[in-house]
Amino acid sequence: MNKQELEKIKQKALEEHIPIIMDDTLEVIAKYLKNIKPKKILEIGTAVGYSAICFSQYLADDGKIDTIERDEERIKEAKINIKKAQVDSKINIYEGDAVEVLPSLSDKYDVVFIDAAKGKYPFFLKESLRMLNTNGIIFADNILYKGYVMSDYNKHKQRTAVRNLREYIKEVSENPNLETEILEVGDGLAISKIK
Ligand code: SAH
Ligand code: MG
Repeated sequence: MNKQELEKIKQKALEEHIPIIMDDTLEVIAKYLKNIKPKKILEIGTAVGYSAICFSQYLADDGKIDTIERDEERIKEAKINIKKAQVDSKINIYEGDAVEVLPSLSDKYDVVFIDAAKGKYPFFLKESLRMLNTNGIIFADNILYKGYVMSDYNKHKQRTAVRNLREYIKEVSENPNLETEILEVGDGLAISKIK
């Protein structure tokens, strides 16, 4: 893949205020992916394809990424970007709301990256666990949501998101089959590994 092309995709996304993965978060996930060499990654929240393109370089030779996005404009741009990055044979976009798409999937995944509607994280977790391989790992981005999740004052606007992010943290922490770390990189990253 062409580094310059990837940098252009990143800059354009940043200019358009599309919430792409932050550099330090990507660095952490990349370290894991290098070791795992995943065959299948599931991503919830494609946006314009930036994170999926980044992850694709760590796949096993015949590895694939399934990624879900509901915003038509972003899907259009993601397709263009994925083609430009010459990884269209490795990345498949499911177009639609993840709440509807996820229950229709039955593949197994080595890695799941949750990066979409914060109010739906507990549901995304349940569906991810259903499809996670033994030794699988789930990354959840934006888990600390600008610090709101760990503070006791939240504006009305963020209340549902914060409640559900807390619920996600509670569920992964209490699940006896998972080992979870919460990192303060980017907007907060939860890493849950199957024990
Ligand atoms: N992973 C991307 C950024 C994703 S931003 C990257 O790092 O490059 C979050 C995206 O999730 C947005 O584009 C938004 O449209 C999408 N999204 C939010 N809720 C969703 C849902 N319920 N189903 C599908 N897509 C959703
Ligand atoms: Mg994010």
